[in-house]
Amino acid sequence: MGYIEPAPIMDKENPFESMMSRFKIAAGHLGLNEDTYNVLKSPDKQVIVNLPITMDDGSIRVFEAYRVIHNNILGPSKGGVRFDPNVNLDEVKALAAWMTWKCAVVDIPYGGAKGGICCNPRQMSSGEIERLTRAYTTALYDVFGPDKDIPAPDMGTGQREMAWMMDQYSRNSGMTVNGVVTGKPSVLGGSEGRTEATGRGVMVSALTALEKLKINPYNCTVAVQGFGNVGSNAALLLADRGTKVVAISDITGAYYNSNGIDIEKANEYRLNNRGTLDNFTGAEKLDSADELMMLDVDVLVPAALENVITKHNADRIKAKLIVEGANGPTSAKADDIIAKKGIVVVPDILANAGGVTVSYFEWVQNRLGYKWTRDRVNRRSDRIMRTAFEQVYNTSVKYDVTLRIAAYIVAIDKVAKTYAYRGGF
Ligand code: NAD
Repeated sequence: MGYIEPAPIMDKENPFESMMSRFKIAAGHLGLNEDTYNVLKSPDKQVIVNLPITMDDGSIRVFEAYRVIHNNILGPSKGGVRFDPNVNLDEVKALAAWMTWKCAVVDIPYGGAKGGICCNPRQMSSGEIERLTRAYTTALYDVFGPDKDIPAPDMGTGQREMAWMMDQYSRNSGMTVNGVVTGKPSVLGGSEGRTEATGRGVMVSALTALEKLKINPYNCTVAVQGFGNVGSNAALLLADRGTKVVAISDITGAYYNSNGIDIEKANEYRLNNRGTLDNFTGAEKLDSADELMMLDVDVLVPAALENVITKHNADRIKAKLIVEGANGPTSAKADDIIAKKGIVVVPDILANAGGVTVSYFEWVQNRLGYKWTRDRVNRRSDRIMRTAFEQVYNTSVKYDVTLRIAAYIVAIDKVAKTYAYRGGF
């Protein structure tokens, strides 16, 4: 199958500005002082590197790559590395800031960072990707570190790339340092439950929100946009908890079955089909992938890209609940339209925080030199997700704001209080 270019981003809204507009609203509710606002509005560090790589045909290509550390007042910065042809500095800046807020919302001792390499991994061989991953790790050797900045997987990266990063960092250090990245294969110190952790957190958030909305999961239909790591695991776990997943999509299109899709079959198909649902026969293919967003379902889980719910399509969304598996799927300009329609949104910085939570557990286990069981990982992460949800929910009631603004309030309040104690400017 040839590589199909991702759908064009439908809104011109800059993701960093989208993040800032929510930050401003939450800061206003909190009465955040101007000095702290000024500190938090810009990333601490932005690194751009150009990486020359020998391609399989002998030519040399130069790849632009980024690492942005938004803030590390709460602890070492944490955030994934994205391999995607559309990666750019503004996107990475927004994603880094979201990581700061996300870690604060779930109350884990990390700051926020993000990385990206502007490349198309679907058009590269495994050897080319390996050379690029190793070059990136070496170029950022001074930035990374188990007590400084800890990468993890994101779009286009997974256990394989994390293994290369861990190995390259360890080679450069002259010793094995497995706590420098999370999302590693189990044999390298990866945590049980990390692969499905983000999808699991999405499931816990969705079920907790359904409980608040008094919707029985057994009478509930779900559509999931994006059937990669987050989307497939969220769909599997939501189906397991009794909901009917009627639509899934990926870069090859959207697939619908009003009787419910057999998600286990779809996932098996994906795993045996180079990661895509291309030609999947367990559901009818919709004319356009965007149709999935407008389906008359109870729950919509965007779990692919940012800016897919925008002022152009927000009005046509029929779901009662949106649970943001992806980072930044809703543009700031769509927030008001969605809120006016009475749709409840569990925001990205809460809904998809299960991933960073289990990444934190992985780092804790690496530092202890000890391995937890899957059951212990799941129980602890479910508890963290539910506690964070309740805190955000109560904050939304207290300030009479959406769950999104409430999540920002919880996060910014924590970071601001830490600054107030630490001072040092
Ligand atoms: P992934 O690469 O495993 O999966 C992405 C999926 O989206 C793929 O199925 C791809 O085909 C699909 N996709 C791409 N363009 C699409 C389009 N136009 N329409 C429909 N589907 C499309 O990535 P992932 O790790 O699952 O990440 C997905 C989102 O979740 C990203 O926003 C990421 O930042 C966020 N996220 C991931 C994690 C994690 O632990 N992996 C944690 C938190 C947040």
